[in-house]
Amino acid sequence: TDVSMTDLVSLCRRRGFVFQSSEIYNGMNGFWDYGPLGVEVHRNIKNRWWDKMVREREDIVGLDCSIIMAPKTWEASGHVGGFSDPMIDCKESKMRYRADQLYFARVELESGELLGYISMLDGDNNEAHAKKLVKTLMKKADVKGDTKPLELKDATQAAPEEIPLIPSPATGIPGSLTPPREFNLMFETSVGALSDAASKAYLRPETAQGIFVNFKNVAQTSRVKVPFGIAQIGKAFRNEINPRNFIFRSREFEQMEIEYFIPPDEDAWPEYYKQWIGESWDWLKSIGLREDLMSYDVHQKCDLAHYARACTDIIFKFPFGESELMGIAARGDFDLSQHEKTSGKSMEYFDSDPNAADKRRYVPHVIEPSLGVDRLFLAVMVSAYVEEKVDGEKRTYLKFHPSLAPYKAAVLPLVKNKPELVSKARGIFEKLKRRYSVFWDASGSIGRRYRRADEVGVPFAITVDFDSLQDDSVTVRDRDSCEQTRMKISDLYPFLTQQIDP
Ligand code: ATP
Repeated sequence: TDVSMTDLVSLCRRRGFVFQSSEIYNGMNGFWDYGPLGVEVHRNIKNRWWDKMVREREDIVGLDCSIIMAPKTWEASGHVGGFSDPMIDCKESKMRYRADQLYFARVELESGELLGYISMLDGDNNEAHAKKLVKTLMKKADVKGDTKPLELKDATQAAPEEIPLIPSPATGIPGSLTPPREFNLMFETSVGALSDAASKAYLRPETAQGIFVNFKNVAQTSRVKVPFGIAQIGKAFRNEINPRNFIFRSREFEQMEIEYFIPPDEDAWPEYYKQWIGESWDWLKSIGLREDLMSYDVHQKCDLAHYARACTDIIFKFPFGESELMGIAARGDFDLSQHEKTSGKSMEYFDSDPNAADKRRYVPHVIEPSLGVDRLFLAVMVSAYVEEKVDGEKRTYLKFHPSLAPYKAAVLPLVKNKPELVSKARGIFEKLKRRYSVFWDASGSIGRRYRRADEVGVPFAITVDFDSLQDDSVTVRDRDSCEQTRMKISDLYPFLTQQIDP
């Protein structure tokens, strides 16, 4: 029962999970708002990650850095010079394309004569579309016959003299495209009253650099010893050229990153790296991600940044295709060394373990698991979406893991007009909501109320009925199996706790 992107976006809008930012002003491309239900799931994802990665571990500590940092940070990290995508503009339509998403082909007749060029955007680079464009080209030139087989390439592979010959996908006019230009993805702002070169600053494009910059502060003030990690959750900003696929690629998003510092010995990192790939996968599975939609992409040596030892992405099969959900990279000591060079401050760690054979000073190496909250939110929604037929009737529900569900339980008084019963239900609701987000629903038939709860992914529906007044018990209905069990009211807390965090 795989959900389509259109259905998912509309469900998110309809049920109050995700809205377009500034919708009343027709929205803002690449920006999104989380509604009442979405914010709960979003927050649960982050809390769950923090619990498992920081609170329950002795070797990882947390950090929360400012979004705007000293601009030197981004010189050291390489973002000022290198964090850019090659862009091509259409001078006529003012459309802007990422060069690697603009596809083109040379169209030659069998005789070898050049007929012209065709172009299209990544996504519609299918053969049928190319054939149509070729047909139009031939009609215009009034030639018949066959062309040589087409070879589609992206515009980063175009020779400079070819660019003026490629028609803009927007206008179809050759000569309207600019040569590729590097476009830095960092958002700029200025700090203070004056707006000049000296006041220029950036919104962070990743949270990781805040961790590196604070490495010494944390090492000196906490009782951590290598190997140890520093974790951070926070907003990041990238002026993406083509924000698309809903919250998958946006311009403002949140990241959950860990820098895990390890000894610099060349034989040390592969073990930690493997460990983090495994732990990342297991954690994603534990919050209910569909394992049948997950896979690995191990980067080839030639695709790696020059300093990187290795990198593996965890891929998720989104409705629009398979794409990176998170990355785990072995980055050596590149980042700390860069900050050491740029700041002139030592980034050395003193290994004072009395059992260590050689007490020594070194700049640690690092393993970096990096994950986007919003991409994960999307993967969680895709994994949770279930459409099934029950007795010939369609039932659509969200099968969230209880730890991520926006509400953990719905409390339902069977009838509205018996004050004793309503007050008993109300008592349960008041008690549960002290620890869990629960949902009060007293109107409509019980079947309708079940469906309402199912649709937003409430895992348990607690019904207070006439018997409850006698036996202090309630009926607990399970969202996924629809099974109902009778339970003592005093057992509700331990039951929910067990289900949410087994
Ligand atoms: P992509 O190739 O998709 O642009 P990336 O390799 O540049 O991603 P990283 O710089 O490794 O991404 O960022 C780490 C994580 O942050 C990604 O795995 C992803 O989950 C998330 N992320 C990156 N860019 C965006 C974005 N524009 N919108 C939402 N999440 C993002």
